[in-house]
Amino acid sequence: MTLPETATQPALDTLRRVFGYDAFRGNQRDIIEQVVSGGDALVLMPTGGGKSLCYQIPALVRPGTGVVVSPLIALMQDQVDALTALGVRAGFLNSTQDFGQRHAVEEAFLAGELDLLYLAPERLKVESTLRLLDRGKISLFAIDEAHCVAQWGHDFRPDYLELSRLHERWPAVPRIALTATATGATRKEIAHRLNLDDARHFVSSFDRPNIQYRIVAKNRPEQQLLELLTTEHKGDAGIVYCLSRASTERTAQFLSDNGIEALPYHAGLDARTRARNQARFLREDGLVVVATIAFGMGIDKPDVRFVAHLDLPKSVEGYYQETGRAGRDGQPSTAWLAYGLQDVVQQRKMIATSEGDDAHRRRLGTHLDAMLALCETVECRRVQLLNYFGQEASPCGNCDTCLSPPEAWDGTIAAQKVLSAVFRLDRERRQKFGVGHIVDILLGRQTAKIQQFGHDSLTVFGVGTEHAEPVWRGVIRQLLAQGLLTVEGDHGTLVLTDASSEVLARKREVRLRQEPKRAAKTSRPKAP
Ligand code: ADP
Ligand code: ZN
Repeated sequence: MTLPETATQPALDTLRRVFGYDAFRGNQRDIIEQVVSGGDALVLMPTGGGKSLCYQIPALVRPGTGVVVSPLIALMQDQVDALTALGVRAGFLNSTQDFGQRHAVEEAFLAGELDLLYLAPERLKVESTLRLLDRGKISLFAIDEAHCVAQWGHDFRPDYLELSRLHERWPAVPRIALTATATGATRKEIAHRLNLDDARHFVSSFDRPNIQYRIVAKNRPEQQLLELLTTEHKGDAGIVYCLSRASTERTAQFLSDNGIEALPYHAGLDARTRARNQARFLREDGLVVVATIAFGMGIDKPDVRFVAHLDLPKSVEGYYQETGRAGRDGQPSTAWLAYGLQDVVQQRKMIATSEGDDAHRRRLGTHLDAMLALCETVECRRVQLLNYFGQEASPCGNCDTCLSPPEAWDGTIAAQKVLSAVFRLDRERRQKFGVGHIVDILLGRQTAKIQQFGHDSLTVFGVGTEHAEPVWRGVIRQLLAQGLLTVEGDHGTLVLTDASSEVLARKREVRLRQEPKRAAKTSRPKAP
């Protein structure tokens, strides 16, 4: 009769029949095979890599219900809706439901009418939930965002520690733990804490070798963007990200005025315009969308040739996710970011005045610091990026710092001059002086404001004539990036940090990055 099948065939059938895709991506096939045949798996895969199918397909292929533990309560309804639309029987249990809703899901589970059941981790601390699971049939446990179990990770959730008990209670049920961010140490901790010592590890590379990463100093951003598009990306489809709705519209208009067909996209546009612009971008060739980060979720256009950022992303995760929309077809593509002093000032200010507790602000600060370190590095961008995601790499030869290595210079004296100027102003408790005023003082300019406040009598007045204004702005930007300066209050006043005093006391050297004289010349082979 029938030959013994490998685990692959039913999985492939499910991929095509239920999800409508032709082939597995990356190592999805191996992961699914491992779980379908009853083994445990620990999966590291970048965002957008396709983690969900790695447990959804085994849950459909194996008898019983796949139990998915996820901390993203806000997304459960969406996930369940999306699955239901595909004809998959799915439900969830979390704190947002009333008794009746919960009861209905429990009944469906017990009747064997669910393929997938999503649970918030705190549900599994409740004995009644465990007893419920005992009475049904479980095909697998999927532990999403598994890095939450790691105490030293960036997103620890105590409830996740309880998940080690799943294995004690249901030793025969295969488990798959998934995460998009884990350093080597965190990965070990995940395996250890979840009792996944015998699990196979599936580590996807975070590298996107066909994407050329470039981060340039911002001076006239729209002109710089226009030059990039006309010299290297004529007729190409691409995405330009801006922070504000207003700037997406302005930039789209600017590009259109200069002969590049560009459409704005942001949450403030009415739904029909949004849908129309998105549909045109997907369907037509060579369109540019100028968008806030609201654009991109679920956009799967293979031939996006460039992603440009006109404002600094808030985190490396965000940057990686947004730039990752370029070049899905594997053809050479550009990730280009223009970044300047005002970006740092603005974001530090936003963090300082943000809602939420200190821990929240610290977390935002840590994310920004990592993003700034990527911007200011004199090493290979790709190495820095991959290291951030816990992956070793060697210099890539396909990023701006590899193609035209920036020099580092000893900026200790320059830093001391800036910090002293800030210190003088600080003592006067004046809130009105921004970066421009500091530069004016260093350059010894007799502006109206300088005269009004008598700042030409400060000892630091005119001590910085050895550098031009752009150099000083670069120095201040890097001091902000390195935490040697910070901003305070609504005005974004520059203030010293604890680390500043070490520099002023000559106990600490400051290494700075010299901006390359010209923009990186690329040797990108244009696809025929
Ligand atoms: P992750 O959870 O890793 O961030 P998702 O599971 O949300 O990623 O998948 C990202 C996108 O890729 C989704 O739109 C998904 O439908 C799509 N996708 C996943 N696997 C495949 C595949 N084998 N073929 C085509 N598209 C896929
Ligand atoms: Zn490189």
